[in-house]
Amino acid sequence: MKTYECTLIYDASTSCTAIAASADEAAEAALNQCEGVTLCHHCASQLDVGDVSGVFVYDGDTLVVDTTFAGEQVAVANARLESLQTSHDIKAANLQALVRAVLEYAEACSRCEEGGNDGGDIADAMDAFGAMADLARSLEDKA
Ligand SMILES: [Zn+2]
Repeated sequence: MKTYECTLIYDASTSCTAIAASADEAAEAALNQCEGVTLCHHCASQLDVGDVSGVFVYDGDTLVVDTTFAGEQVAVANARLESLQTSHDIKAANLQALVRAVLEYAEACSRCEEGGNDGGDIADAMDAFGAMADLARSLEDKA
């Protein structure tokens, strides 16, 4: 058996109000203006108070800014998720448009086969094929 030294990490906080133009500025103002925490001699022998690790800014009851490491990681992940969702939505919509263009192309081609080329069907097929190519390019994975 071996003896280990272990440090328990506590979560602690203090609050103050800040008047600022934005929630981000309020977080900065709080860091500069709000008083830090000090411990009495007795408590200081058992507890170390570290540096501020972040600021929560509330607008009423709603958390609007979280500058802690975890909060910033969540914000980055949420932004990435939103970007992926938007990209996915655009691709899903373009895929549906591609399906419609393929069906229009097939329809124009079968009109040509059944009734012969009257000029209009070929033009319709060429238009539909152009739309298919544009949509296919928008869906192509360029990564
Ligand atoms: Zn104390």
